[in-house]
Amino acid sequence: DAGDVLRNSLLWMADSSTVRATIEKAPVSRSVVKRFVAGDAIDDAVSVTAELRQTNRMVTIDYLGEDTLDLALAERTRDTYLRLLAALSDRGLTEGGTAEVSVKLSAVGQSLPGDGERVALDNARAICEAARDAGTTVTLDMEDHTTTDSTLSVLAELRKDFPSTGAVLQAYLHRTEGDCRDLAYEGSRVRLCKGAYKEPESVAYQAKEDVDKSYVRCLKVLLAGAGYPMVASHDPRLLEIARALAAHNGRSHDSMEYQMLLGIRPGEQRRIADRGDTMRVYIPFGDEWYGYLMRRMAEKPANTMFFLRGLATK
Ligand code: FAD
Repeated sequence: DAGDVLRNSLLWMADSSTVRATIEKAPVSRSVVKRFVAGDAIDDAVSVTAELRQTNRMVTIDYLGEDTLDLALAERTRDTYLRLLAALSDRGLTEGGTAEVSVKLSAVGQSLPGDGERVALDNARAICEAARDAGTTVTLDMEDHTTTDSTLSVLAELRKDFPSTGAVLQAYLHRTEGDCRDLAYEGSRVRLCKGAYKEPESVAYQAKEDVDKSYVRCLKVLLAGAGYPMVASHDPRLLEIARALAAHNGRSHDSMEYQMLLGIRPGEQRRIADRGDTMRVYIPFGDEWYGYLMRRMAEKPANTMFFLRGLATK
């Protein structure tokens, strides 16, 4: 239907360098990007964190960037995470994992030809070390399906030294229910999301209802398991199901958490925190917002209209 056409076009735009160059040059007003992105600088991410703390929300911070084919850039990204963790720690925002960081391995070297996976592992290890020293932890974002095995193997390596390193699993992939079983062990932090990339039928469910059904099957595995599930969704139905399954499995408030993206359903974020559950907000910052925003546009026509109106009124 028309929704699918829009979604597929936007996901195609997320990957197109020509479209990217055009949109990045357009005079997008800061207010448009600002609803979903904290700002360009570390200080922006720190201030948004402090603001969300006032309503008892936890955060995970993502320095925007992906698919780096430049070793020096991968190292600069790593160093930005180290400075971010130091700045958060200085403000007392990392204690007990209040603020943690989310890292895309492709931003720290995974897609470099040859030894990309090793470069990404080394960079991620440095970030995990800094996070541990600051009293917090790291979650490895999950990217397109060609990277899943590599990301899970880097995760396994990191967990040897940093057992609290979190994983992300995407319900739209056929393989994910099995991955949930593998990762539902004691101490294992797993963020379950639907998945945000354009994936072929051979590996991923295409219809929303099939993705949702898979999400519920995965929730059942994770919530019945021994790990620490992180329910990442804005979908009211799935959030209700997660809550019911948590009660059914006798889960305490501190044995799992809910996660949403900055700027999406902020009222619901506060309600979840107010009822005593852990609510963590994913805060992206940095000037590489293009791919991130295009994926948000693809998810919801209302987001696209908000963005286009901003472009038009600038
Ligand atoms: P959708 O099917 O997009 O939306 C379902 C319903 O949610 C909508 O019908 C509506 O009721 C409500 N909703 C959605 N958006 C809005 C809005 N703007 N305003 C009001 N209501 C809204 N994806 C990855 O591939 N890899 C990752 O590592 C990853 N990390 C993530 C981390 C976090 C914390 C979160 C929240 C998401 C992450 N994602 C990641 C993105 C995820 O895969 C989805 O693309 C995204 O969350 C949208 O899916 P949804 O579950 O919210 O459901």
